[in-house]
Amino acid sequence: MGFLFLLGHRLTWQAYHRLDDIHGFFDYLAKTYPDICTVETIGYSIQKRPLKILKISNGNAGNPGVWIDGGMHAREWISPAAVTYIANQIVEGWDDMPAHMKNVNWHIHAVANPDGYEYSHTTDRLWRKNMRSHGRNCPGVDLNRNFGYKWGGKGTSANPCSQTYRGSKAFSEPETFYISKYISNFPRNTFQAYLSFHSYGQYILYPWGYDYRVTNDKSDLDRVARQAGTTITKSTGFKYTVGSSATTLYPAAGGSDDWAKGFAGIKYAYTIEMGDTGRYGFVLPASYIEQNGKDGFTFVETVARAVTKTKDSRRRKIRRRS
Ligand SMILES: [Zn+2]
Repeated sequence: MGFLFLLGHRLTWQAYHRLDDIHGFFDYLAKTYPDICTVETIGYSIQKRPLKILKISNGNAGNPGVWIDGGMHAREWISPAAVTYIANQIVEGWDDMPAHMKNVNWHIHAVANPDGYEYSHTTDRLWRKNMRSHGRNCPGVDLNRNFGYKWGGKGTSANPCSQTYRGSKAFSEPETFYISKYISNFPRNTFQAYLSFHSYGQYILYPWGYDYRVTNDKSDLDRVARQAGTTITKSTGFKYTVGSSATTLYPAAGGSDDWAKGFAGIKYAYTIEMGDTGRYGFVLPASYIEQNGKDGFTFVETVARAVTKTKDSRRRKIRRRS
């Protein structure tokens, strides 16, 4: 089996893969493209699985940072599949990538809930939460209710058996805590985008999730999301609905995007709900991976264009002043 790792990696985007294959893919990229790729374990899950991220960069520390996560909800298999598809497109296509893709420092966490992801493969296909034990029959915390901004509000449950159990306190779970720690370790304004991949429904959502309110720069977030949606439709024909989380879907406090925006000050904070719109839902056949990967890539590229533009205009302003 060791030969496989020497020769390449096992991801195919024709099937859903287990955690080891996904992490093996990251290791392969770091080994094969050491000039642009590094792998970092930012912490460990409840069951001691590595929280492994892939960093892609041209080496310029001043590039805007873009965070991408997937698999926060275990059963949403299309999410890690699309996120790894995007990583593969960026790295394998690096030489031909436009400047707005190369002038970004990418931080990609494909399986943010590795314990739950594995459990959804071995035991319960529709598992959602992490594997925190409460000493009862219903383990798990909903990681996307556990982030530390307006934690405990609408759309969350204090009942450990609930699918939307928020945990005992904000960032009680290592899977969320280490994300916040990793991002907070960078100087403020390093990250210009935080993109969280979920499924399903085909939505591009921006804060706030905790209540029926919008941010002061809502028009910027809305404009970029609509650009992405339009480009996706032009390219693959699939339609994405754009809007603020609470208004478009339902209120849910303690989400990663709200924390990214409200606490970490990251401008372009989005949750993208990948396909489909309900025919298969969480059990989307693997034959849909490629299309969702393409749509995800279009979304990411649209955001990259926006954040590199922001950076350029900021530089221009500084230059003008000096
Ligand atoms: Zn989800």
